[in-house]
Amino acid sequence: MKVNDDLLVLELSANLMGGPTLIHPVVIVDEAMGLTLVDAGLPGMADAIGALLSEQGLKLSDIKRVIITHHDLDHIGSVPAVVEASGAQVWAPEREIPFLEGREWPQKMPTPQQADQLLADPNVPQARKEMIKQMSGMKPVTLKVDRALKDGEVLPMAGGVRVVTTPGHTFGHASLYLERHQTLITGDALSSSAGQLSGPFPAGTADMKTAGESVNKLAGLDVQTIVTYHGGVVSEEASGQLKQVAGQMAAAN
Ligand SMILES: [Zn+2]
Repeated sequence: MKVNDDLLVLELSANLMGGPTLIHPVVIVDEAMGLTLVDAGLPGMADAIGALLSEQGLKLSDIKRVIITHHDLDHIGSVPAVVEASGAQVWAPEREIPFLEGREWPQKMPTPQQADQLLADPNVPQARKEMIKQMSGMKPVTLKVDRALKDGEVLPMAGGVRVVTTPGHTFGHASLYLERHQTLITGDALSSSAGQLSGPFPAGTADMKTAGESVNKLAGLDVQTIVTYHGGVVSEEASGQLKQVAGQMAAAN
């Protein structure tokens, strides 16, 4: 789906948290810089991404870089295949790089030993157990990052794409703010459903207090449109909804 001349929102079917759902990588379009894919789904999704691009007259091999919001598997699983098909660079927030390059174990992925302990623990919520079951047996995806992204830097594409670090969901999670059309790509710093914005999923978020502070930081931006990875486009009253969610999260902290 084309949000504006700078931005396509893709919609992919995925099995996550015990059921079918939709995820939303996006493509930032810039005449000079070429295509930038933001996040790339689970392993095995590169062909589906290519098929969606071809509907727009674009090709997987046109992708010049992949920007990663954070290292969770449902965001990076197909990055290696996209890189192989396109030769794209990989850009990622500074604090996510050790996880992506395999120097730190993924923040929320239990080691096999931890998984056994957590599944046996009656105090662990069922939703968390479902995620643990799904993740156990998976191997972390590792890749090489070509460029570190810093908080506040503006990437020279599509009228300026500002990197806004939004830690909480993971240590180094970042969102992107497209200045020209005041569009916010939130990754998992926020979620949404049918145009209704909400906070990040608590079961998948490492630190809800820090996540709330990050949402408050996002609420300081002038926003017309929000795209969440797990919910898609929020266009009605986006700014008002964002401020409301920030207020709710602050009150819960
Ligand atoms: Zn995530």
